Amino acid sequence: MEPILTLDHLSYAYHTLEGETKALSDISLSVKPGEFVAIVGPSGCGKSTLLSLIAGLLKPEEGEILLNGKSLKESATNIGYMLQKDHLLEYRTIYKNIILGLEIQHRLTEKNLEYVQKLMQQYDIADFADSYPRELSGGMRQRAALIRTLALKPDFLLLDEPFSALDYQTRLDVSDDIAKIIRQSGVTTLLVTHDLSEAISISDRIIVLGKRPGHIRSIITIDFGSEHQLSSKEARIHPQFQNYFNQIWKELKHDE
Ligand code: ADP
Ligand code: MG
Repeated sequence: MEPILTLDHLSYAYHTLEGETKALSDISLSVKPGEFVAIVGPSGCGKSTLLSLIAGLLKPEEGEILLNGKSLKESATNIGYMLQKDHLLEYRTIYKNIILGLEIQHRLTEKNLEYVQKLMQQYDIADFADSYPRELSGGMRQRAALIRTLALKPDFLLLDEPFSALDYQTRLDVSDDIAKIIRQSGVTTLLVTHDLSEAISISDRIIVLGKRPGHIRSIITIDFGSEHQLSSKEARIHPQFQNYFNQIWKELKHDE
């Protein structure tokens, strides 16, 4: 299968008045359609920078980014981007928030709105359509933000620490929930997290980045040998889980 995303010897540095900060160095990797890939690494190692490059918000200094074999400029691949904060607008209802992306892109067609209805039914948020964000729990807000992103039918989803604003208990439930929705939708996903357990419990593959400038330390395939996709809770109690944890922990500690 052709990769949906290819990064080829990608490097990036920020230039400020204080000088140059090398953020990423020589990153090469590829992601296959439908894969769920996590990126872990210490704070400041360039994870968010990497997502911004893929989203086209920053231009690489060196190297190349290909989406479905085409450069970002030529590619018609539709990218969805979800951040740590849900960025729901407090003065709009949940429904109005969910259709916001479509509205901005002038895509409020009957067909797209039907699709929004379907998503809201399927992912149990229809009852909150007329509620305001402040009336929802952190988890439900995050779910609404995800549905807003999915409403745009992205081919590729970028998630930057989407659960880190939630408390630990909620985080377990919400990451499980969101991972399930993403799996069902089949959209290819790149998830940035600093939570190792979260990465192991929901992804197919983990890219471990080392300290600044961010570089690839290792790429680890997660396989619990099960026929069905394990829920993140099932994964966390699987005997193999601890082995993956130790292996990746060692990689992360290597720099220190
Ligand atoms: P992470 O998401 O892994 O925590 P970032 O990609 O946000 O890391 O940042 C990588 C490095 O680049 C950090 O050292 C950070 O201070 C620096 N950096 C990030 N954004 C900017 C910016 N706009 N200007 C200058 N330096 C930046
Ligand atoms: Mg970051």
